[in-house]
Amino acid sequence: MKKHVHYPRIEINTSKLYENAKNVVDYCGSKGITLSGVIKGFNGIPHVAEALGKSGCAHLASSRLEQLVRLRKRMPAFPFMLLRLPMLSELEMMVRHVDISLNSEMEIILQIEQHAEKLGKKHSIVLMLDLGDLREGFYSPEELIEAALHIETNLKHVRLAGIGTNLGCYGSVVPTAENLGALCSVASEIEERIGRKLDFVSGGGTTSIPLLLSDKMPAGINHLRVGEEILLNRDLPDLWGFSLPGLHQDTFTLKAQVIEVKNKPTYPMGELFLDAFGNKPVYQDRGVRRRALLAVGKGDFAMHDKLIPLTEGVEIIGSSSDHLIVDVEDCKEAVKVGDILAFNMYYAPMLYLTASQSVKKVYLKR
Ligand SMILES: *Cc1c(COP(=O)(O)O)cnc(C)c1O
Repeated sequence: MKKHVHYPRIEINTSKLYENAKNVVDYCGSKGITLSGVIKGFNGIPHVAEALGKSGCAHLASSRLEQLVRLRKRMPAFPFMLLRLPMLSELEMMVRHVDISLNSEMEIILQIEQHAEKLGKKHSIVLMLDLGDLREGFYSPEELIEAALHIETNLKHVRLAGIGTNLGCYGSVVPTAENLGALCSVASEIEERIGRKLDFVSGGGTTSIPLLLSDKMPAGINHLRVGEEILLNRDLPDLWGFSLPGLHQDTFTLKAQVIEVKNKPTYPMGELFLDAFGNKPVYQDRGVRRRALLAVGKGDFAMHDKLIPLTEGVEIIGSSSDHLIVDVEDCKEAVKVGDILAFNMYYAPMLYLTASQSVKKVYLKR
């Protein structure tokens, strides 16, 4: 009997993540851009976040305050950035543990000032401008400028650190020289009126990197907040046709165990209605083929079509809450019960797998 090893597991290679972060930090640095390393994609697991913190990034950043609070115990002095606009109910916690946050509501900023005063702390703020992606941010540049001037002249514990924008996440709007150029114009106007440079003009995340690679980034942008490109390096090469050299893609690996292997038809028999999630999947009749069942499911990874099989001949055909079904007809070596199959992944499975209670986290160094 083999020693008991827990499956499913996700193996996280902290050396490769560090190298990716260092590479992106150095590349952006060479273009005059400082970086915040975004840790929310892996639930801010402290051991992994610590590896990213050594890369030279200016902050570690997350949209979830609880991840930063948990990390604070391990990294008492490292600058942390909160990416999601803070809730009124979390301001005290935020001011205690976070150095800089993205904001768009004066009501919240005024309360941050009060908490910071009470705690004897300083808190920095990046005001967000909505350039058409329609998630967070002031929609009116004039309103943003007015807020910036108010912070600069009236608040003592809140520092106006800069302005920023987010693109692509909701409205799928592409960052361009034009829309980021508009952010830079607003920044220049604020700088002129307050008589000093802003620390940060923050031009987005991973999807803004193509502008750097094609030398079209407006000169005023000096900061990015990057997660995906550091963690997985999948979106730029696969969706945008760009790539930064030297980045690993095998940073997060799911390993799951085969619990059944049988020859079965590929088209379900009987009257078809809806699957376990209320969807009507399309099934292709390819006759009888060999397929394997794995003990991991949507409850762990959410989206099977965002997993990438590492064994040649393995093809993902579907999943339910607790099962993943793969076609193994074309595998060179026969897949058998007890075998372990490995998968790399896109962003969504990384997000869910690193949070799943049933998935063991294993940290690798090369
Ligand atoms: C998640 C997030 C990012 C990072 O996005 P990536 O696509 O992972 O680089 C940047 N900014 C904000 C506001 C975010 O919420």
